[in-house]
Amino acid sequence: MPKKVTDTPMMQQYKAVKAQYPDAFLFYRIGDFYELFFDDAIKGSQLLELTLTARNKSADNPIPMCGVPHHAVDNYINILIDQGYKVAICEQMEDPKLAVGMVKRAVIQLVTPGTSMNIHPGEAKKNNYLSAVLPLNPGFGFAYSDLSTGELKVTVLADLFSVENELSALGSVEIVVPENLDDTVAKALHSGDRLLSVQKDDGKKHAEISYVTQDLDDLAEIDVVTMLMRYLLDTQKRSLAHIQKAVTYAPAAFLDMDADARRNLDIVANSRTGKKAGSLLGLLDSTQTAMGGRMLRTWLERPLLDVSAINERQEQVQTLLDNFFERTELADALRKVYDLERLAGRVAFGNVNGRDLLQLATSLDQMPTIEDILGRMAAPSMAPYQQLDLVGDIADLIHRAITDEPPISVKEGGVIRDGYDEQLDHYREISRSSKTWLANLEASEREKTGIHNLKIRFTSVFGYFIEVTKSNLANVPEDRYERKQTLTNAERFITPELKAKESEILEAQASSTALEYTLFTKVRDDIKEQIGRLQALAAKVAELDVLQSFAQLAENQHFVRPEMSKTSHDVEIVGGRHPVVEKVIGKSSYIPNDVFMSDGVDMLLITGPNMSGKSTYMRQMALIVIMAQAGSFVPATSAKLPIFDHIFTRIGAADDLANGQSTFMVEMLEANEALSHATNRSLILFDEIGRGTATYDGMALAQAIIEYLHDHVHAKTLFSTHYHELTALAQSLPHLKNVHVGATLENGNLVFQHKMLAGPADKSYGIHVAKLAGLPNELLRRADSILQTLEGKEQVQIPAANEQTESGTTAVQPDVPAGAHADAYADTAEPAAVVADTPADGADEQLELFAPEPVKPVKTARSKKEEAVLRELADFDLMGANPMAAMNLLYGLQQKLKSGK
Ligand code: ADP
Repeated sequence: MPKKVTDTPMMQQYKAVKAQYPDAFLFYRIGDFYELFFDDAIKGSQLLELTLTARNKSADNPIPMCGVPHHAVDNYINILIDQGYKVAICEQMEDPKLAVGMVKRAVIQLVTPGTSMNIHPGEAKKNNYLSAVLPLNPGFGFAYSDLSTGELKVTVLADLFSVENELSALGSVEIVVPENLDDTVAKALHSGDRLLSVQKDDGKKHAEISYVTQDLDDLAEIDVVTMLMRYLLDTQKRSLAHIQKAVTYAPAAFLDMDADARRNLDIVANSRTGKKAGSLLGLLDSTQTAMGGRMLRTWLERPLLDVSAINERQEQVQTLLDNFFERTELADALRKVYDLERLAGRVAFGNVNGRDLLQLATSLDQMPTIEDILGRMAAPSMAPYQQLDLVGDIADLIHRAITDEPPISVKEGGVIRDGYDEQLDHYREISRSSKTWLANLEASEREKTGIHNLKIRFTSVFGYFIEVTKSNLANVPEDRYERKQTLTNAERFITPELKAKESEILEAQASSTALEYTLFTKVRDDIKEQIGRLQALAAKVAELDVLQSFAQLAENQHFVRPEMSKTSHDVEIVGGRHPVVEKVIGKSSYIPNDVFMSDGVDMLLITGPNMSGKSTYMRQMALIVIMAQAGSFVPATSAKLPIFDHIFTRIGAADDLANGQSTFMVEMLEANEALSHATNRSLILFDEIGRGTATYDGMALAQAIIEYLHDHVHAKTLFSTHYHELTALAQSLPHLKNVHVGATLENGNLVFQHKMLAGPADKSYGIHVAKLAGLPNELLRRADSILQTLEGKEQVQIPAANEQTESGTTAVQPDVPAGAHADAYADTAEPAAVVADTPADGADEQLELFAPEPVKPVKTARSKKEEAVLRELADFDLMGANPMAAMNLLYGLQQKLKSGK
């Protein structure tokens, strides 16, 4: 029978602490190491690539163990946090040398993904938002905070869909939820890599944080903020004075986009790479500060609806554009501003050092310059930035108190400047005069003994001593010198006089270091009192930074100020460009395109070959709208826009397999989202709706969706399609216009013009695009032949990839360039066909979607097998073959025709 093992007192202590943090790695401090035990050690050693050892190796049940040195602990913690784990840091709460019995230990912080203050290089312009979701009946209380900046916002959301939209807009990796969360809600929130952290309601009041809910009236909002704050207090276990009063916000006050639309439009991240590069944010970010970078992200995530607020931003951008020199100076000054928000947060958090405070002071030093620059612009639009509280007193305090080159540590002295504190100066004077005293002593002892190389030296173990080399030992005055240590080449001595001075020096040094720490803490606490002012200043600086970034982009990329209308629904974009694609392919290669939706036009039905630029055109429209409502200028020659309330998209064909939904299901869900929520102020982008199912039901659904949007919704809609039959709808739907992207055939090869033209495309050129993609010639010929049969037309010869026609360039569509006026999409090329329930002329091309005998692909004249035989015959080199080979070929072909294959 195995021996019953009783835990050592330390293991009992470990287990008691671990029991409180079952879902976290427990980093348990022992001396200079943090140790992990049991399962934490097994898993931790793998994740952190540490050697797994064991405590009590020789015992029956050795305890798995691994450890990390205390000075490197942050790196290890960050690795675990990045992978979505939590880490509880358990410290020794007393000096082990002085402890009686077991050293007291306690968890001083629970680091979690949503509360981590670790900022990755290159990610300073991103917030780390911890969200909290509290189910109500009905709806959800929703709050979020960035612990590093102190931002705290709250709202009430109607349903899980809205919660998901907020979570994805914020990019939250951790969500605080109450106990006993409903399974369906938990499952919905859990999607992706998100961590759910349960916060118990301890019923405590927490007076120190009651101020955060001061401005809230709604009980649900107070509850969800309280839950979030409790979680922060429980995990961080320290002052959270920098958390700002909770501010209520309403998602409905901003241009609404759901998670898919944000992703599809690559607003803050490229949907393919997940990176900022290749996104709208990546293009627009010319901000100079981390705060500005985060603010720009927020502005793009939440474009405005209020036309006067939009105009105000545009006016400010205009002012900055008009004042080139001031703007350049402003950018230079901003470049020297560090992350005020996060520095303020760290002051409150208590983890700033001297260097951080210097950064704070350097940043504040720029404020008078910024104020001066803004003053010189003398523009009314800049008024909100002209009367700032520059918080100069804090800069002064730091300059007076902190040395020019403080060390990283705040506990080892060298942080506080001479002249800041009398007592500290006194201690330092003792140290300084002692140095002279020691130098004098060395000189006089050399003289007295005649030993020229006699030295007074110091080690931390022996303190001060007199060192004499072996060859000079004969001259040592044995009566005065007391031997302390013998080395190979020298002897070390002390004298009572030297020892007395030593204790004076060491005492002064210890007192000096302790006093410095106290003084530093006092400076830090004084700054903490002013955090609100620092945060207010930081917010203004961040806005200025975004505005100068908008101005800079407007100038460099030739953006124009859009004219926004509160009342009109008309869209008139002349020479619009997709800013990101333009940047990638180069300005000279990009073909600008107009968007005209005025005089009652609500819908553009876009046809044209694959790869011609249909989705680029649609996205371009959405990005221009987002930029305009964020206050930026836009990539166009001129633009008149209404205020859109919502952008709906159905773009791309990504299966949401993780959530068990097929492409077509996702397509219909997204379409339904638009159909049921869009208003006549919304923008809808539908890219090839109906493609995910069989041709006829796909086309039927597409047509019905168009009709429904046209008749009931009146949202501005860009609808691209391959179903040419749908272009006939322009005959019966007055608010719909056909446009198409031009393409030409040059020597039988398709050449894209990327130009949006009036009227429908004549066909889809799928086979030509397949040819561009390099599909085998045999296959292309076959596809063409099937197509001709299906269309019941004469076969049009598509030359093989290496064949040339003699004709040269063939325009496949009359080019009617989209002009700079509303006639651009004149119905010059509308087909005569009409739709099923609106009979008109041209009934032979009528689209009979629900006809009793739907057209089926007709069997082709020759079977695939026959085609293959003919080709083999044609390709046979008759002149180079002998009669036997010819016989064999004929036999083989005959067999093929006879066989069932
Ligand atoms: P579609 O949706 O018709 O299949 P895309 O919009 O995806 O085509 O465009 C295909 C490619 O054509 C883009 O990646 C881009 O390189 C190029 N393109 C699109 N629009 C333009 C334009 N206006 N000017 C120049 N190139 C363009």
